[in-house]
Amino acid sequence: MAHRIDLPAEFQFKVEPIKYVRGAIRLRKWWLGYGPWELQATVSGPAEFADSWRTADPEFADSWRRADLYHVLPDELPPFVREQLSEPDQPLSSAVKRVDLDVIFCMYPEGCDLRHGPKARVIDPWQLRHDFLHLKPSSEALLDFLNYYGQWSRITQPRLEGTVGYGSRVLRLDNDILIPGLIFESEIRKEQTAMRNALKGNPADWLAKGSLSFGSQSKFPHYVHTDSTCLDAIRTSISIDFLRRVPFRICKRPDCGEPFAADRKGKQYCSQYCAHLVSVRRTRKELKKKIAAEQKG
Ligand SMILES: [Zn+2]
Repeated sequence: MAHRIDLPAEFQFKVEPIKYVRGAIRLRKWWLGYGPWELQATVSGPAEFADSWRTADPEFADSWRRADLYHVLPDELPPFVREQLSEPDQPLSSAVKRVDLDVIFCMYPEGCDLRHGPKARVIDPWQLRHDFLHLKPSSEALLDFLNYYGQWSRITQPRLEGTVGYGSRVLRLDNDILIPGLIFESEIRKEQTAMRNALKGNPADWLAKGSLSFGSQSKFPHYVHTDSTCLDAIRTSISIDFLRRVPFRICKRPDCGEPFAADRKGKQYCSQYCAHLVSVRRTRKELKKKIAAEQKG
């Protein structure tokens, strides 16, 4: 027989700041490592980004722009590019190679390097989740959000050149060159949809998929779960809410429609903002009606 025991546990959410910059890459050729076919890409923008690296370390001036530094999976590319790709191991058409693909580069903030990494900041994953679900569809809004909260996932941080471990490449830890990480906006937007669906869906499905792990410490309550990326923190917040059987509702404001934790009976809106907006709209509508009626009479 299994024992069910409720025990206290601590949760920590500490995220390092990351500087996110909009940039672009161009595809070069197909490439095969140990995994599936990938595409090699070079950085095509922004120019000032290249210059900052040039002054930072002239010895390795152009190393970060080398073709083999970035690899992307075909699935991550926009549909119009995917349709034009050649068969793997065939050369790419010059049209495909000329397309500038929008990406987001991820670096350490100014003054930080390998030995002096950025200092992690405590975040509130519930506020983070709210902000993420309500993120406007524009790229600017996403960049502001990322630059405010910090490291999004395990890949949105700079990495050491040579440590990717592809094939025969040798680990070169001696040169200390940090290469910006790279992510497509679509990868982050996909998570937005997945979380929305999770919160609207069956908690049992979510909880059956992942598990929480705990480290230990000498002070009470001894068992600690720590998240150091935004994505992990949001996922943990969903698990905690589901375990505590928090009911979720859909915000009544028609142009919001986001799921929210209905921690209070009768709560209809996800936030003060939505509740206020609906009430302002209602007042305006009534006022209009009143004026119209007065003009008639
Ligand atoms: Zn709302």
